[in-house]
Formats: sequence, structure tokens, C-alpha cells
Amino acid sequence: MNCLYRSHHLARPLWKRLVLTVYYHATRPVRWRRHLRAAAAGRVPVVILFYHRVAEAADNPWTVSQRMFARQVTWLRKNFELVDLAESQRRIRHGVNHRPCACITFDDGYADNCTYALPWLLRERIPFAYFVTLHNVLSGEPFAHDLLWGKPHAPNTLEQICALADAGVEIGSHGFSHADLGAIDNRQVLDCELAGSRDTLQRLIRRTVRYFAFPFGQPSNITPLALRLAWEAGYEAVCSAYGGLNLPGDDGFHLLRIGVDDDLIGLVNAATGDPRHLSKQRQMPRIVLAETPPHPDDGQAKCYPPATCPAAVESQH
Ligand SMILES: [Zn+2]
Repeated sequence: MNCLYRSHHLARPLWKRLVLTVYYHATRPVRWRRHLRAAAAGRVPVVILFYHRVAEAADNPWTVSQRMFARQVTWLRKNFELVDLAESQRRIRHGVNHRPCACITFDDGYADNCTYALPWLLRERIPFAYFVTLHNVLSGEPFAHDLLWGKPHAPNTLEQICALADAGVEIGSHGFSHADLGAIDNRQVLDCELAGSRDTLQRLIRRTVRYFAFPFGQPSNITPLALRLAWEAGYEAVCSAYGGLNLPGDDGFHLLRIGVDDDLIGLVNAATGDPRHLSKQRQMPRIVLAETPPHPDDGQAKCYPPATCPAAVESQH
């Protein structure tokens, strides 16, 4: 199980928040000088964030309270241009970015997000990408990490996902079963989680699914084989979840994301480039990509293997 879901504290303790606040203010001059140099050179990093669940109160480490979510997005709006994943990817691939920008994403697919966070983002016309685990959406079963935590929460329904897609939200795949793809070396199973979940999701929401977020998203959960299969399946990009900032000139296929906790200082510290973490982004798993990605999606959604893929079977019900 991923360290995020194993964490035993609900939020960063007060003393850690105070230390982080002092550290952030002490390193502000360094950050500012680095930002000015980057802006002049067109090398301003692209910040991509991920949330899981926004609810009235944060009752597990992967939930942000509604009040804190509003504070965080208000701070982001003031300091960054909020862009969608495609624009983030364009700026990375273009190799030049002069303006700070950030992109909001969500993983898993929690029904609670539809109470406040998503309607508010839609109303404010703030773009975001929404990665869903197909099995939970189709079955209505709570996520395994919530059951282990002892507080199961409802996943989104298919109707909610279709409504989001119809509202123009970028719906991405978070796999079929939220499996750790780093622990799977069977190509057929990986194909089912990557291409199978994508094809079924596309069929259900009647929209192209362009992005994949690796469940758990740590380097150990992302193998070169899984990256290769995601590329061959025709995904525009895949997202990890172990932190780091994306630099203009990166390949733009593997997008680094920063997780957001239930406090403001953690977000402020990470999004402005914590000097301690700047080398992290260079640890990214890489594969050598061909110049032109294969695009097997010729308009005919398919599932691998067609007869046995559980994504295909569940979508019939
Ligand atoms: Zn997840």
C-alpha cells in the first residue's frame, strides 16, 4: 500500500506547520531570485496538483476540508494562471514558459467532491482533470484504502462522471481496479488496466480519454513496461504522484504532480519550489519515446483481451 494511504496522521501537526512556515519565509528570497531567473529564461516550472476527496471535514489524510479547499484555490488563483492538463503539457513540450501556471487534478473519484468542490470549480470556470477508478464507479464499492482506514466513502456514480464529462471536464483513467501496476508484469493484465479501462470509460462517457494517472503514483508503482504500454495505448500523458515540478523542455509524457494536504502552508511551500525537493523531479522514471506516438484508437473502442477484461464485463451491466 502506498505511503499516502498508510499515513496515520489526519493533518500536518501544528509544530510541523510552524516549522514549515518559518522555513518557507526563510527561503523566500532564494525562491524569488530563482523565479526571476526562470521567468527571464522562459523556464518557469509547470505545477500540477492532485487532490482525492474534498468533504465537509478532513477525516482521513487524503481528504481536504471544503473550507481549506476554498482557501487553497483562492491562493492558487492569486499566484498562478490556472490551466488545464492539455495546456500544462503544451507549455512543457514547447520548452518555454514565462508565466507561473498550475493545474488541478483529482484521483479516485469520490462522490463527496460533487457536493462542493466540483460545482464551485465549474461555476468559477476553473479547469481541472478528474481521474476515476472504473471498477468503483461501476460497482459502487468503496475504495480498498478507505475500507482499511475503517471509513468507507461512496465513489462517484457513472451518472456523475457523465455529467462532469458533459460539462467539459477532462475525465481520465485511474485504472480499472486501482491496482499497483508496479507489481504486475503480466502484459495482458497491464493492458486491461491501461488500455482496457480507457476504452471502456470512453465508451461510457462518449468522450476521448486522453490521460492516465498511475494508482499510488510512486516511482515503485511505475515500471518502464507500464509506461511503454501506456504510450502504446495512445495516452497523451501519464501522471505520477510523488511530487516534483515539471520543467519546460521535459518530454511532457510523464507529468509530475504534487499532493495537497489539509493545510495551506504545505501547498504554498511545494508549489513555489521547495529547494529541498528540486532534485526529486529528476528521479522520474523515463522511457525512450518514439517521435510519433502510436494512436491505436481508430474510433473503435476496444478492450484487452476483449472476452475476459473485467472492465468490459462490468460495463455490460
Ligand atoms: Zn488513487
